[in-house]
Amino acid sequence: MHPFESHIRNVPDFPKAGIIFKDITPLLQERFSEVIEAISQGINWDEIDHVVGIESRGFILGAAMAQLKGKGFIPMRKKGKLPPPIIAESYALEYGSDTLEMIINTKAAKVLLVDDVLATGGTLRAAMKLCEKNQLKVTSMALLINLTFLNNFKEEGLPVHSVLNY
Ligand code: AMP
Repeated sequence: MHPFESHIRNVPDFPKAGIIFKDITPLLQERFSEVIEAISQGINWDEIDHVVGIESRGFILGAAMAQLKGKGFIPMRKKGKLPPPIIAESYALEYGSDTLEMIINTKAAKVLLVDDVLATGGTLRAAMKLCEKNQLKVTSMALLINLTFLNNFKEEGLPVHSVLNY
């Protein structure tokens, strides 16, 4: 068992029935610097200009990774939080849809995309699309947890790095 696992709480039926929510707050509280070091390993930082963090747990991890590696940080936010000029990407959820937004980027750059948990991959796929539409080439993606049984990112050969895999 990975030493981080004992600090992750599995919360059944949150936020809705049938989902086992991975609560990483105890892990962040007990092991924050080790977590940031672990999630930053195995990434080719030479090919990354900036870190893009997905609201909101992607901010916690991504901002600390950017600080550790001396990179800039770009927030990708939920609808309506960022002032114009923005660019948006909507994606389907089980019920309804959601939208991610970024401030329009004017200079082509290479980025690392960061979030806490990769589940079905809907969020990360939309985030990748939004980056590419916004002149930001996604060279790598970093997650703390990959629920591999819910997505096929690895099989598709996408550049995904994760610390814990289920
Ligand atoms: P998905 O789009 O299905 O890959 O879901 C990814 C987003 O939902 C991430 O931003 C996660 O923070 C959150 N998420 C999905 N499933 C879980 C889970 N089992 N535990 C914690 N967070 C989750």
